Formats: sequence, structure tokens, C-alpha cells
Amino acid sequence: MKTHRNLPFFVPHAGCPNCCVFCSQVKITGERAEKDINVEIEELRSMLESEKGEFDESQIAFFGGSFTAIERNRMEKLLSVANEYIDSGVASGIRISTRPDKIDEEILSVLKKYRVTHIELGVQSTDDSVLIKSERGHLAKDSFESAKLITENGFVFGGQMMIGLPNSTVESEIQTARDIVKMGASEARIYPTVVFEGTKLYDMAMNGEYKPLSTEEAVARTAKCARIFYEAGVKLLRISLHSSENLKNAPLGANHPAIGELVKSRIYTDIISEKAGDCTGKKLIIRISKKDISMLSGHNGQALELLKTKTKADEIKIIGDDSPRFEPILEIQGD
Ligand code: SF4
Repeated sequence: MKTHRNLPFFVPHAGCPNCCVFCSQVKITGERAEKDINVEIEELRSMLESEKGEFDESQIAFFGGSFTAIERNRMEKLLSVANEYIDSGVASGIRISTRPDKIDEEILSVLKKYRVTHIELGVQSTDDSVLIKSERGHLAKDSFESAKLITENGFVFGGQMMIGLPNSTVESEIQTARDIVKMGASEARIYPTVVFEGTKLYDMAMNGEYKPLSTEEAVARTAKCARIFYEAGVKLLRISLHSSENLKNAPLGANHPAIGELVKSRIYTDIISEKAGDCTGKKLIIRISKKDISMLSGHNGQALELLKTKTKADEIKIIGDDSPRFEPILEIQGD
């Protein structure tokens, strides 16, 4: 089996013209916003040197901030160093993440020249009222237009969305996930909203203008969107922000350390309970991929308890086998 990894390099908030209410790139990455370009290049080189290893594919991934909004010379210097490491075989490609309103034909030709292969867009929501309330500084149409340009120009497109932004609802989040699929995404990331101190969102939460997500809400709502991606064959690269001390210390919102696992577990319980229906007085036997057994039996048995409550089965037995992931096979005994 091919081994793949990302070599992430964070460019915190550099060049971003905006200040979204939830954004605290400094808090997320734990770094100051602007750095001397020479220092940054040395850090990039040192990361790439230290990451040389036995992988079939390695992608240099420029994350944080809005890569294509960085001052042009700075952006090209970073890409140029990345290209040296593609030439020497350390990496096989480059991925970047950026804002939907910072993509056009010209920037795409520059990215192509530097062998960028994957572009992730911070779509966040396709509901304009959510984007406006979150002070994103762009509208849903920007995401649709940029995604079209990205896919037409042969890049692999990834859509990033958020759960629990101001004005957001379960329905608008489901629609956003569907829209990202429609935009032609091959990959997606879902970020349940975390509230960092020092952000406008924190002030909004403090004055009652915004209600932060509880872990349960974040899990239930994220699972609905994640399922749309799984069912559409869109690769879900990540659920939740990268772990860091700052994330751990965020005072409000969805910063549970195992949120990704909880979401996957919830997808299973949703699929199984929908398929099983009311199992009162019956025994429910569930065959799932052995790779996923922990999703139903782990987390202190919470998933199993939820399944018992939802299906009302007298007894539930879980068997791990070679079934495909997220395609449980059910047998109901006592019909
Ligand atoms: S676009 Fe990204 S980097 Fe810029 S303010 Fe918003 S979240 Fe922060």
C-alpha cells in the first residue's frame, strides 16, 4: 500500500486582508502573525530536511492564513523553496489553502508554474447570512466561482467548511456540504467552531450574541455533513483543527480532543439506527469493518448506549469482519 503524508508548514494570517470573527491564527498556530521572510524560509528548509523519510508520496502543505493573499514575492519565494524539495525527491507535490476571493486565472497560472497540485478553499458556509455575520468578507458565489476555476484548471479541489458559525443552522450546514460536493470537491475538511479568547466571536459569546457549540451539538451536526462527504466519495481529510496547546486551552466551543473519533462513531450510530428502526424485544447483530470496532465500543461505551436508546434493542452484538467501512450489515433476530 502507498504511504502518503503531508509536510505542513503554517503561514499564520500572513497577507490576509480580513479578520473573520472566529479567526485567531496566532492562537491556532501559537505564532506571531508576521515573520521575516528569511527566517520563514529557513524554517521551511529545516522542516523539509528533518522530514526526509520513507514515504511514497509527500506533499508540502502551506496551511494557515490565506496563501494566495500573501505578498507575491514572499509567496513565490516559499513556493520556489518547496520546488527545490520536489526536484530532490523529498516531496511529490504542493497543496495550499486560501480564501475563495483570492483565486483567479492569473494566480492559478502562478500556482501551476510552481507545481501546486491541490487547492483547498475556506468555503466555511454557502449561506450568505452566515458569511456576513461571521465577517468573512466574501459571499457564497465567490466559492462557487473559484471552485469552478480550480477544477477547470486541473487542480484537485478541496472544500473546508465550519460547523456552528453565527447564524448557521443544521440545515445550512447540510446544504454547505452538498454545495461543496456540487462544486466538484475531491477532498473536504470540517471544522466545528472553537472560540478563542481575544476574538470577536469570544466577545459575541460573552455578550450573548452567539451561543458556542456544545460537544454533543458539534458531534451531531458534524456527523451529518461528514456523512454527505463519505457517501459522495469525497475524501474527508480532517475533522477539527490541528491539535495545539492553544486549542486545548480554548475556553468555549468544540475543542474536545477526540472530536474526529466521536464524529465517526456518530456516523455509525446514525446509519445503524436508521437501518435498524425500532428493535423493541429483539436482538440486533451488527457486522462492521474490524477497523471500526472501536468506534462503537470505545469512548466509555457511549456509542453503544446511544445505539441501545435509539434502536430500543434488547441486546446488541457487534462483530468485526472485512465489511467496507461505514457499511454495517445488520441482522435482527426475533422478528
Ligand atoms: S480568511 Fe482565514 S486567515 Fe483571514 S481572517 Fe479569516 S480565518 Fe483568518
